Amino acid sequence: MSYEIAVDLHLHTSYSDGVLSPKDLVNLCYKNGLKHISVTDHDCTDGIQESIEIAKHIDGLEVIPGIELSSQNEMHILGYYIDFQDMRLQKILSEFKNDRVSRTQETISVLKKLGINIDWNVVKSFAGEGTVGRPHIAKAMISGGYVKSFEEAFDTYLGKDGLAYTGKVKMTPKEAIELIDSVGGVSALAHPTFCMQGDDEESIRIFDETLMELKLYGLKGLEVYYKNYSLEQVSMLKRLAEKNNLICTGGSDYHGNGAADEVLPGLVGPPVEDFLLLGN
Ligand SMILES: [Zn+2]
Ligand SMILES: [Zn+2]
Repeated sequence: MSYEIAVDLHLHTSYSDGVLSPKDLVNLCYKNGLKHISVTDHDCTDGIQESIEIAKHIDGLEVIPGIELSSQNEMHILGYYIDFQDMRLQKILSEFKNDRVSRTQETISVLKKLGINIDWNVVKSFAGEGTVGRPHIAKAMISGGYVKSFEEAFDTYLGKDGLAYTGKVKMTPKEAIELIDSVGGVSALAHPTFCMQGDDEESIRIFDETLMELKLYGLKGLEVYYKNYSLEQVSMLKRLAEKNNLICTGGSDYHGNGAADEVLPGLVGPPVEDFLLLGN
């Protein structure tokens, strides 16, 4: 990219499935030259206040309250400038959290029937201050010697076709967009290519229809800039954003877990002029 990256609108802390605390994340972002960042934990706003407090002591770094809501069909809806203290939002998020805890317990008991004895407290310890979920069960399975890798844990047991999969009730994309809207936020569709069949003409056409529908529900932005997107992907998404009058957003989706495709904060993001449209 030919412009300086000063904005990263997709970051995770240890309050969801990221590794860094809000403090460490904010400091890393500052060190990497960022000026505007958004903490967008999955279905959780617990890391926002802390991030804002840390940034108060850092000149020239703005933290935008954000969230990444999981909705049906693997659509992740990002929300920016949300009133994260809104009581209705907090009630909905705590219901999600409870649902996640009970599904995790259910999965543990199914695994037990399959001869895999994972202790709830061990799973919980892997989650730290975040909400327990399948990644933590996978870690417990690896440390117990039941599987060798995350992939094996998910492919055989925890994934959608796995032996111990427990389904979850998810919001529709419409509900997610409307929830963000109801707390004064601006919504954007995360990592759009995850919602596409491929990059051929027909897949682009179908995805364009999806965007038109989401736009009707109130979608405002599209995550055009995302880790490892090629120039071709960026320009294809930019075209779709322009066509549907959506703001181009972007970020690294940094988790700090050292995944093979990980990109550090500050290496990918939208141009400042696109970012400024979000706040208007
Ligand atoms: Zn996501
Ligand atoms: Zn994310």
